[in-house]
Amino acid sequence: MHYLSTRGDATPRKFCDILLEGLAPDGGLYMPVRYPQVDAPTLAKWRKLYAEQGYAALAFAILSLYIDDIPAADLKAICDKTYTQEVFGTQQITPVRPLEGDLHIEGLSNGPTIAFKDMAMQLLGNLFEYELGRRGEQLNILGATSGDTGSAAEYAMRGKQGVRVFMLSPHGRMSAFQQAQMFSLQDENIHNLAVEGVFDDCQDIVKAVSNDLEFKRQYKIGTVNSINWARLLAQVVYYFAGYFQATTSDAQKVSFTVPSGNFGNICAGHVARMMGLPVDKLVVATNENDVLDEFFRTGVYRVRASADTYETSSPSMDISKASNFERFVFDLLGRNAKRTAELFGSDLGSKGHFDLSQDPVFPLAASRYGFVSGKSTHADRLDTIRDCYNRLGTMIDTHTADGVKVAREQVQAGVPMIVLETALPIKFADTITEALGRKPEVPAKFAGIEDLPKRVEVVPADTDRIKQIISQACA
Ligand SMILES: *Cc1c(COP(=O)(O)O)cnc(C)c1O
Repeated sequence: MHYLSTRGDATPRKFCDILLEGLAPDGGLYMPVRYPQVDAPTLAKWRKLYAEQGYAALAFAILSLYIDDIPAADLKAICDKTYTQEVFGTQQITPVRPLEGDLHIEGLSNGPTIAFKDMAMQLLGNLFEYELGRRGEQLNILGATSGDTGSAAEYAMRGKQGVRVFMLSPHGRMSAFQQAQMFSLQDENIHNLAVEGVFDDCQDIVKAVSNDLEFKRQYKIGTVNSINWARLLAQVVYYFAGYFQATTSDAQKVSFTVPSGNFGNICAGHVARMMGLPVDKLVVATNENDVLDEFFRTGVYRVRASADTYETSSPSMDISKASNFERFVFDLLGRNAKRTAELFGSDLGSKGHFDLSQDPVFPLAASRYGFVSGKSTHADRLDTIRDCYNRLGTMIDTHTADGVKVAREQVQAGVPMIVLETALPIKFADTITEALGRKPEVPAKFAGIEDLPKRVEVVPADTDRIKQIISQACA
């Protein structure tokens, strides 16, 4: 399989060529040149495979279609080592449970940091270690986090050969639980840097370091952000696993509702659907930051300024623009790279928006690609959390609550609607307490985590100081 850029660069690249990359050189995102098609016999085979040999075997079957530059035995070993009951808590890895009527919840948040980013990041950690080892190279991952991404990256890369992580977070601004999760890691290759400033200061430093091309090359600075194709690919697997659990026959269709921010998670659903997974609707659920809902309702994609980006109680969906969205628009435009480059490269930069409302392709988003959307607010979140807990006996987190709220508006009788659970309630304990008047339970594996010794360095919001820390660690 080869990969190309959404903005036209068609240099033939294999999976491992783009594994350690972020954006393509022309500023676009990498996409497979085609979607491998899953025919009926294959789907039947995979259903059996998942039931009999489990998630890792299913992952290997799917990944093999996109990765032909890692020997099969090695790729299989990587999948087997990643998706274990020990790490993800259940044999199904992403267990589906009934909620009510046709509604189901698929748990994606039973990994080390109890948020769905573990699903992809755990695989990425093993792929990075493998590929760096093969090349005899090292990588220094520099990132900024206000919570989920940073901890998922650290838990994926801890103890990995050839990889160091430098994770900037705003000093004193993450929840106690999130700080405990990240700062309790004692691994030599994990560097927690608490920056005296806000999240934007952290991001500015990452940008400044990455823009110093000489430094970037000398110290092999990389990232693990959500536009990485390998992350997206890893996520395709649980759409299949969810389908097999919620249905008994391959003649059935299901729909998925996905709490969305950067469009990474639901874009994997789009890929699964394009491969032939029998998916009816893909429902985008947003919070008050409704860039995506606005697009699917109106055809206008309008990025928000920082001042218009709200801090909400589902903070992992607080985005001003959706960094993976370009992948879907590329497909929507019939893979017209020139137009994709115009919309994302020129129009967004100069006007801050683009408008497909009058374009004949826009109605295809719903009719051909199955996309619909909805939005949820803080009040909806509280109501949904209360209803699920008091009436249905299950406690869900704030992001999943956004999903359940929107799923209820889109569910159709007889079509299982699978809501993706993207985090566990303990991560967002304050809002759960606000809704229910009681705190969520701490999962057994995290008991006492807030009392563990912390490994973190408090640093000024100063790019040179961060560069110095990186160069010292590499000495
Ligand atoms: C990252 C995240 C999301 C949003 O996922 P995208 O891939 O950015 O759409 C939703 N919920 C939680 C808990 C997350 O961590």
